[in-house]
Amino acid sequence: MDARLEAIRDTVLARNPGEAEFHQAVVEVFESLGPVHDRHPEFLDAAILERLCEPERQIIFRVPWTDDAGRVQINRGFRVEFNSALGPYKGGLRFHPSVYLGIVKFLGFEQIFKNALTGMPIGGGKGGSDFDPRGRSDAEVMRFCRSFMTELYRHIGEYTDVPAGDIGVGGREIGYLFGQYKRITNRYESGVLTGKGISWGGSLVRPEATGFGTVIFTQEMLKTRGTSFDGQRVVVSGSGNVAINAIAKAQSLGATVVACSDSSGYIMDEAGIDVGLLREVKEVERGRLKDYAVRRPGVSYVDGGSVWDVDATVALPCATQNELDGGAAARLVRGGLLAVGEGANMPSTRDAVAVFQEAGVLFGPGKAANAGGVATSALEMQQNASRDSWSFEHTEERLTDIMVGIHHRCAATADEYGEPGNYVLGANIGGFAKVAEAMLAQGLI
Ligand code: GLU
Repeated sequence: MDARLEAIRDTVLARNPGEAEFHQAVVEVFESLGPVHDRHPEFLDAAILERLCEPERQIIFRVPWTDDAGRVQINRGFRVEFNSALGPYKGGLRFHPSVYLGIVKFLGFEQIFKNALTGMPIGGGKGGSDFDPRGRSDAEVMRFCRSFMTELYRHIGEYTDVPAGDIGVGGREIGYLFGQYKRITNRYESGVLTGKGISWGGSLVRPEATGFGTVIFTQEMLKTRGTSFDGQRVVVSGSGNVAINAIAKAQSLGATVVACSDSSGYIMDEAGIDVGLLREVKEVERGRLKDYAVRRPGVSYVDGGSVWDVDATVALPCATQNELDGGAAARLVRGGLLAVGEGANMPSTRDAVAVFQEAGVLFGPGKAANAGGVATSALEMQQNASRDSWSFEHTEERLTDIMVGIHHRCAATADEYGEPGNYVLGANIGGFAKVAEAMLAQGLI
C-alpha cells in the first residue's frame, strides 16, 4: 500500500478500536486507492480519506420493549449516517444478534461506494439492532419495531436519511416501522423508507432486485470471457431474499443451481433448486432448509456442512460477511470455478479474494455486484417523489441498465488504471472518485 495511505489507515484503525469488520472494509478500499491519489493530489490536501472514514453522525440508542410473556427486553439500536456528498443517507437496517457498531460501520462505509456506483443521487448510511427476530411472534416484532422507530424517526426523512431492509428486516418490519413513523409525525411521507409494500408506495422489482442484480452483474462479467449463465453449475450460499432471487434469475438464464444453505447446513439438489418450493418453505412458512429436503425427492440435506464444499463453475455468496474464507476459495478454484458474484456484503475474506484473483477467477465484489437492491430503492424514491408507480417490465429494465452500467464503470476504471479485469480496484476507485469530487466541490464540511 502507498505510504501516505498507510499512515492515514493506521490513524483510522487506531481511533476505532475493536471494530474488526470496519477495519477490514477500510483496509480493502485503501489498498485500491494509491493510483487515484497519484493522479489527484488535491484529494490528499483536502483530507478526503480522513473525512470519508469518519461518519458524519452516529446515533446509538436504547430500544425497550416487552415480549409476549410481559417481560421487559432491552436492545441496542444504531444508525450511522456516513456520507451525504451525493444525496440523503441511504442504506438498510439489519436486525441480527451479531450487530454492533463495527458491523454497522463496515456496512455504512461500503454503502457510500456502492451507492455512488449506482449513479443515483444517494449518500451512504446503515443501521440496525442486535434484536433477533428469529422465533419472535409478529406481535413481538411489531412492538420492537415501534420502539425502534420511536427514537429513529427524529433522525430520518425523505431528504435526510432513508432506511430500508437488510438481514432480518423485510416487508413485515418495514411495514411496522412505516406505520409508527406515520403515526408519530402525522405525515404520509412515502420516501422516508424503501422496501414498502406494493399497495402503499413500494416499487415492483424491489424484493427481487438485489438477487437479480447480482446475477445480471455476474452475467456481464461472464460475457467478457465469451460465456454466459447458460449451462453453468451454480452454488449459492444463504436462502433469504437475496439468495432466493439470485437462484431464480440464474436459472431463468439457463443455469442449474445445485445447492444453497442456511445457518444450520445446506441442501444438494442436482436437478436444480425448485424456487417455488423454496419460497414456500422460507418466505411463507419462515421455515428451515431441512423442511425443503424432506418434501422434494432426490434432495439431500447436509447438516452443519459448508456449501463451498460443492463444486461449481459460478459461486454466489448471498448470506453474510466473511462466510467464504481462503480455504473455501482454494477448494472452489480446484473444483473448476470461473466466476464469483457477491450478493451479500463482504462475504469473501481478504484471503479468499486474493485466492480468486491469483487464480484468474472473475470476482465481482459486493459493493458493485449487489448494488441492484439499493439502486431499486432509489427508483422507489423516484416513484414516490412523482407519486407514480411503474410496471414490473419498466422497472426491471431500469435495474438491468443500472447493473450493466455499474459493470461498465468498474471494468473501464480497471482498464484506465492498468489492471483490466480487476473489479475490486474498478469498484473502489470508481465509487471513491465520484464521492471525493463531490466532497471537494462542497467545501470543508
Ligand atoms: N441493505 C441493502 C444493501 O446492502 C439495501 C439498502 C437499501 O435498499 O437502502 O445495499
